[in-house]
Amino acid sequence: MTRHVAIVGSGPAGFYAAEAIFKKAPEVRIDMIDRLPTPYGLVRSGVAPDHQGTKNVWRVFDRTARRDTFRYFGHVEVGRDVSVEELLARYDAVVLAVGVTVDRRLGIPGDDLPGVYGSRALSGWYNGHPDFSGLEPELRGPGIAVIGNGNVAVDVVRVLSREPDEMIKTDIPRYALDAIERSDYSELYMLGRRGPSQASFTTAELRELGEMTRTVALVDPAQLPEVVEADDPKHQKKMEKIVETLRSYSQNAPDAKPQRLHLRFFASPVRVIGPDRVRGLEVAVTELRDGRAVATGETYVLEVGTIVTAIGYGATPLEGVPLAASGTSFANVDGKIADRLWAVGWAKRGPSGVIATNRGDSAEVADRVLAELSDGARGGGDALGALLAERGARVVSYDDWLAIDEKERAAASEPTPRVKITSMDALLAACGR
Ligand code: NAP
Repeated sequence: MTRHVAIVGSGPAGFYAAEAIFKKAPEVRIDMIDRLPTPYGLVRSGVAPDHQGTKNVWRVFDRTARRDTFRYFGHVEVGRDVSVEELLARYDAVVLAVGVTVDRRLGIPGDDLPGVYGSRALSGWYNGHPDFSGLEPELRGPGIAVIGNGNVAVDVVRVLSREPDEMIKTDIPRYALDAIERSDYSELYMLGRRGPSQASFTTAELRELGEMTRTVALVDPAQLPEVVEADDPKHQKKMEKIVETLRSYSQNAPDAKPQRLHLRFFASPVRVIGPDRVRGLEVAVTELRDGRAVATGETYVLEVGTIVTAIGYGATPLEGVPLAASGTSFANVDGKIADRLWAVGWAKRGPSGVIATNRGDSAEVADRVLAELSDGARGGGDALGALLAERGARVVSYDDWLAIDEKERAAASEPTPRVKITSMDALLAACGR
């Protein structure tokens, strides 16, 4: 009997799970369901546009998607068009690879004022995600503050700091490029609530901040430790390299380039100054106590008109699937949520790790899925297709996606790789749905 697996979410974790299942059990039929007509999740709409090399991993996923035993159900939202329970009735196993999609809030007065944007929304906007293409952020200066010291914060800073010539080889939508150009900001602040040795960005990403054409990276040398002591000894070498890179930025001349990026540490936002929109940000000076940032009582105000939070994400609740206490993943044990229901990627472990992390992680869960996979008495994709047809869903197939892909590429001229279609209606129209 044919065994059927549904994978919900077509980002790296979902595709790596499919690849691993096919490797060990090529006869299994896998259907991948995604609420967007376009596959590849964060590879298309989270990875920064100037990291086109990273985005190239889609080629690996495309190979999986072209297998005869694979079917793509795009523009199908679990929770709207079909429930998890209905999937479990039609598939021998259901794997949730839906990521985590809610921006964490700062939880300080004024964090809901116009001019405060979450990184999920802002990076979705500059990546042409249909949910966020209409965001129209007002990128007002004189300063923009990006909160957080992770790689997402670095991505946001880079995209906002680069000039159009540096973005020509990318697929950033024209509207985003124009809005960034129109912004009157000259100072960017990247704020870490703890110190340089506690930052979670990686060395390669930090180094890119020193290579931008019109923005000079600056660090106050007084904030750098003389001796680096990583929280986890395994990270000692990495943190030494980070501090060394920051030290080189501390020697940059502020007027070396037209715009400045200030990397500030021991800086914890306490109040967004309004009243009608962002007019400034009050920041508490912190010190480290037992690894935690503790306010010293001293504060200062940054003259910013825009704030972007890049402080992590929470999971989106899905009916019938319990969230972990942290709220950043589904409750699971090594990927298992319940009988025949699994989680991979950020839905399993919360928002941590790079794309490649998902390869091994999804493969481990795939092994467990296969070990427990029942003998295939369920209808799979045909049964799902029939249910969706009954409900009038406009399902986008992988061939439909290829038609969208072709149109996006045809609309671009060298060296721009593609002109993304950024609204749901236009995406559906592009593939005749
Ligand atoms: P992250 O690495 O966990 O960083 C989150 C940052 O937000 C930390 O610096 C954290 O500080 C800070 N933060 C949390 N709550 C805060 C608050 N209330 N006030 C001030 N700061 C706060 O998460 P991420 O940047 O969202 O990245 C998620 C994952 O994707 C990471 O594994 C990352 O490496 C990966 N990623 C990789 C790339 C790449 O490879 N180029 C690009 C993007 C993302 P504390 O440490 O003090 O909590």
